[in-house]
Amino acid sequence: MTQHFAYQALPSRIVFDTLSPALLAAELDRLGVARALILTTPPQEARGQEIARMLGNRGAGVFAGAVMHTPVAVTEQAVETLRRLGADGVVAFGGGSTTGLAKAIALRTDVPQLIVPTTYAGSEVTPILGETEGGVKTTRTSPAILPETVIYDVDLTLSLPPRLSATSGLNAMAHAAEALYARDGNPVTALMAEEAIAALARALPRIVAAPEDRDARSDALYGAWLSGTCLGTVGMALHHKLCHTLGGSFGLPHAETHAIVLPHAMAYNAAAAPEAMARIARALGAADPAAGLFALGRQLGIDQSLQAIGMPADGLDRAADLAVERPYWNPRPIERDAIRRLLARAWAGDAPEA
Ligand code: NAD
Repeated sequence: MTQHFAYQALPSRIVFDTLSPALLAAELDRLGVARALILTTPPQEARGQEIARMLGNRGAGVFAGAVMHTPVAVTEQAVETLRRLGADGVVAFGGGSTTGLAKAIALRTDVPQLIVPTTYAGSEVTPILGETEGGVKTTRTSPAILPETVIYDVDLTLSLPPRLSATSGLNAMAHAAEALYARDGNPVTALMAEEAIAALARALPRIVAAPEDRDARSDALYGAWLSGTCLGTVGMALHHKLCHTLGGSFGLPHAETHAIVLPHAMAYNAAAAPEAMARIARALGAADPAAGLFALGRQLGIDQSLQAIGMPADGLDRAADLAVERPYWNPRPIERDAIRRLLARAWAGDAPEA
């Protein structure tokens, strides 16, 4: 068979290791960073301070103000702190919210980023940044946004609560699943995507049963890295469009929304993307991807209805309208009535359409 594709690898350095003063010093040396500002969220501040101690006199301070949706006002405050403390690099310790802040700072100052992820969001390996100002979200993609170095340390993920681990892991799986039918898909990304789904599907039930299972956590982190790489390499489709609409216009929580919508988006696209579905099914060890993902969500004990996470019933029509407006490319055309039915099922917590 003749292959036609383009594949653009992204220049990130990936390290799976235990965080230590020596490792941090070596990685900051590679980046040419003399003094780093540590970024984290308010709940993880104490652990941010531990990293500051590891950095010794290369630590410029801790900015523990990262929040969801990367508000520009917070970024401006962080940039001011970076300048005041004379830092020439950032170390981000946390999930997608903290990584978002690091990216926003790098975009404005060009300082190198070292990311230490503690969830499975995958943002650390993408050149994508979503920022909010005055309630409006703007998403942009640029090589200047892509973090230079990522250190994945499994021990730093053990504290991620089981429920958040499950939804964050399914959020990661969504990147891989959509990569398999991306318009600009390619065989290398497909290999990563299938491997990612298999690793996450193996790991998540074990993590929910035993959150301190290091082997399962390690498998999930590996799957999350691969999933993030898929997100950074190819375009996303209906599933991501629906989740961005529900998050952006109705304030629904990020990972939870992805976890609920994924089986329904797969059912919508099943007939239009048979090869992708065969790979997802193989990775899940299920006969049908949509039913397999729905059963996995139930096994993990996550919320399976949009209603349960705050979606108003009278918002479904507007959500369907928004999803049809300026749609992302999708293997099956975006049909308003079918999308409205999909949303109704997801809202009620019904199984995806067979
Ligand atoms: P998050 O970063 O908001 O973290 C959720 C909560 O979990 C926070 O309170 C955090 O302090 C806490 N937490 C994180 N790790 C923990 C740990 N190991 N132990 C205990 N608590 C921990 O959530 P997220 O789902 O990782 O990120 C969501 C954000 O990332 C959204 O804004 C989303 O848009 C963005 N995102 C961006 C991309 C991209 O490529 N640009 C990709 C994925 C997600």
